[in-house]
Amino acid sequence: MPLTFPAHQSVVLPLKRYFPTRIDGLALVVGAGAPDVAFGVGMSWLFAHNPVSLMVIVPAVVAYCTALRRWALPGLFRYIPAVPCADLRVYGAMAVGSPTLVTSTVSATIGAASHQAWDSLSHAGHPVAAALGLDQFLFVAAFGPVSINVTPARLVQYSGHTLGSLAAVAMLYLWARQRPPELLDWAEADRLTAEGRPQLIPVLAILIPMTVIGFIMWPLVFGGRGPFVIIVAWAVAMVAVGRWIERRPAALRTRETEATDNAG
Ligand SMILES: [Zn+2]
Repeated sequence: MPLTFPAHQSVVLPLKRYFPTRIDGLALVVGAGAPDVAFGVGMSWLFAHNPVSLMVIVPAVVAYCTALRRWALPGLFRYIPAVPCADLRVYGAMAVGSPTLVTSTVSATIGAASHQAWDSLSHAGHPVAAALGLDQFLFVAAFGPVSINVTPARLVQYSGHTLGSLAAVAMLYLWARQRPPELLDWAEADRLTAEGRPQLIPVLAILIPMTVIGFIMWPLVFGGRGPFVIIVAWAVAMVAVGRWIERRPAALRTRETEATDNAG
């Protein structure tokens, strides 16, 4: 697959830029990764990449985004460190908004369907790739003793990994720098991000051991699904960590804000 994140998101992210009020950016981004995550929770790969599975995937994406908005995102975005030149924490404000159920459902559907369409061209085992002959042998690339059979599907896959990921990161970075006024209420975004300061240690203390254990366990327990099982665990942990941060006493958060002001 092209990377579950952020390569798959690059295809649909421009929709949020050009239809800012009609698209739920969070449901779009989560939806664009969701078919791989569905594989991680036990759906077969082929089913999770078949349009029929949207009937299961889309409601799950909308429910997950609702949980993220309600419990986790305000806290999580206070904990992301600022990137020099472009403060990506402002996207927390875009994610927190309150889109209608229809907007979220449409956005999740577009995201997940775009993922399935892209993968259908880049996977040798997919019926669409097979029907178009994209999984047919093209040429052999030899690197010393190692030779790789290259197919058109594989070329789509590897170029998608690289170019798609670069494009998604570039888009988010440029928007945070240029601040297009129709995309986001930037003043509100600045206010939200200024409410706390990043403290990555408690977050990393949970996520790093979980990931290390996951990487050790996956060949034994989950086989090829392993990386996606880890993504599911991360997704659940994000809600829990964000919820925990939000529930801490308000006084503690105020002290953090004062510390940031003094430091600045
Ligand atoms: Zn996929």
